[in-house]
Amino acid sequence: MPVEIAERWFETRRVDDAITLLWEPHVVPLMRCNIWHVRGRDRDLLIDTGMGIVSLREAARHLLEKPVIAVATHTHADHIGGHHEFDDCLVHEAEAGRLRNPSGRGTLRGSEFAPAELTMLRAAGYAIDGDLITALPHEGYDLASYRVRPALPTRLVAEGSIVDTGDRSFEVLHLPGHSPGSIGLWEAATGVLFSGDAIYDGPLLDQLAGSSVADYVATMRRLRELPVRVVHAGHDPSFGRAHLVELVDAYLARRGSAAA
Ligand SMILES: [Zn+2]
Ligand SMILES: [Zn+2]
Repeated sequence: MPVEIAERWFETRRVDDAITLLWEPHVVPLMRCNIWHVRGRDRDLLIDTGMGIVSLREAARHLLEKPVIAVATHTHADHIGGHHEFDDCLVHEAEAGRLRNPSGRGTLRGSEFAPAELTMLRAAGYAIDGDLITALPHEGYDLASYRVRPALPTRLVAEGSIVDTGDRSFEVLHLPGHSPGSIGLWEAATGVLFSGDAIYDGPLLDQLAGSSVADYVATMRRLRELPVRVVHAGHDPSFGRAHLVELVDAYLARRGSAAA
C-alpha cells in the first residue's frame, strides 16, 4: 500500500484556447487516463473522467462554467470513474449498460488481478507490480473502499452521431476493437480526433474482456485513412498524422493477418 499522501490529485495543462488536459499522476500508467475538457460556446465537453478516486467536478470547478456533457469514449473503469458526478452522460449504445451498471475491474489493488490477466498485461507492456495508485488521495484512504459508481447514460450515440458545443461540431466514429462501444470524436474542420483507447502512443490492449482483434484491425485501417492533424488520445501524449500511421502500421504488422 502506498504511504505517500498526494499534494493534489489531478494535474492540469492548457493545450490551447479551448482544450485542457487533466490527469491523475498518482495512478499507474495502465489506468492513467487523459481527461479532456473542451470549452464550447453553449456547452462544454468532458471527454472521459478518470478513476473516480477524488472528485473531478471539484478539481475541474474552475473550468466548468457552462453545462457539460460527460463523454465516455468507452466504459473501462479508468475512463468513467467520475461520470456519476455529471447529469449529462454520453456513451455509445453498445456500452450504455456498463455505464449504468459498471462491472469488471473495480479495484486499486494489483493483488486482486487474476494471474492470467497480469501475464497478459505484462506481455502487452504493462507490468503491474503493486497497487494501481502510488500515493493516497488523503490520509486514511482505504484502497478497498474503491468502487466504480454507476452513472446515468442520457445521450446514446452511434456511428455518425453529432456532438455539438454550439461553435464546434464533432462526429462520432464507432471504433470497436479495444472495447465494443469505443468511440472517437472527430472534428473534420480542424482535423482534431479524440480517440479514447482506440489508438494512443503506448501499448494497445486487444485481449481484454470485450476486445476483438478483428474489429481492432478494421478500426486501425479506418484510422489510417483519416486526415487527422492531431490525435488527443485516451492515454499518453498527443501526436500527429505521421505518428498515427506508424502506430497503425505497427499494429497491423502484428495483428493484420487476423482480419478476414
Ligand atoms: Zn480502455
Ligand atoms: Zn484506458
